[in-house]
Amino acid sequence: MNLEDLKIIVTGAASGMGAHFATRLHEAGAKVAAGDLNAAGLERLPAGIVKRRLDVSQEADVVAFVAAAAAELGGLNALINNAGILKDGLLVKKDRDSGAVSKLALADWQRVLDVNLTGATLMARECIAAMLATNTRPGVIVNISSISRHGNRGQSNYVAAKAAMAANTTTWAHEVGKYGIRVAAVAPGMVETPMTAGMNPKAREALVAKIPVGRIGTPEDIWLAVKLVLECDYVNGRTYDVDGGASMM
Ligand code: NAP
Repeated sequence: MNLEDLKIIVTGAASGMGAHFATRLHEAGAKVAAGDLNAAGLERLPAGIVKRRLDVSQEADVVAFVAAAAAELGGLNALINNAGILKDGLLVKKDRDSGAVSKLALADWQRVLDVNLTGATLMARECIAAMLATNTRPGVIVNISSISRHGNRGQSNYVAAKAAMAANTTTWAHEVGKYGIRVAAVAPGMVETPMTAGMNPKAREALVAKIPVGRIGTPEDIWLAVKLVLECDYVNGRTYDVDGGASMM
């Protein structure tokens, strides 16, 4: 699809990659609706982008957001399912000194699943339903997964959500291809955004040392992959790692 023909929702658009995707799409002439929990952050996006508070984990919020966005954009043919959070922790941990055993909090497991998996699923459901109701085709859904989907220490909740998102990228592509809708996912490696800004410098150095291209990714690196998914009508059903080669190591 041509970027200027897109009527597209971007979730998690107040910060990091989502803000970058929404801005790049707007610059390319797409009609963009940006949703995020952080309504103040949305206001920093360029004028002309539709901005609305959205909690992707709340079904009623998602239903209302998609209906309003479709009305304001004059239709809907694309979604970037980008909103996501981290609540890292080992499943079980034993303190070396005290011997105390601590466990991953159920609330941290649940919240990450609620936002990263249920939220993305509700958004895809509502956007695809809106496309079908208006006989819109072609359409495209881009899921933002993560290379953590391959398994990553201290991230059971995040890994489970991002792996399920990648698997359901294939499921949904199978289900909605007959309606002219493609579904594909981009799985970034570590990217410079507010999500990763607080990382311990030593851990960061160790991580960069494992990336063959020798640097952390930028939102622009990931945008180039998202743009390929949006533009190339032959990209469908798969998840593409974009990580400077980190996951092949
Ligand atoms: P970010 O800078 O933290 O931006 C994420 C945005 O999503 C924030 O504005 C956040 O709002 C919003 N959000 C959180 N919960 C939400 C909810 N329930 N409903 C709507 N919006 C919500 O993160 P990022 O690094 O750009 O990450 C974007 C996506 O890429 C995420 O799905 C992330 O998992 C994925 N990813 C990131 C990396 C990385 O290294 N950065 C790597 C692989 C994959 P608040 O600030 O108010 O929470």
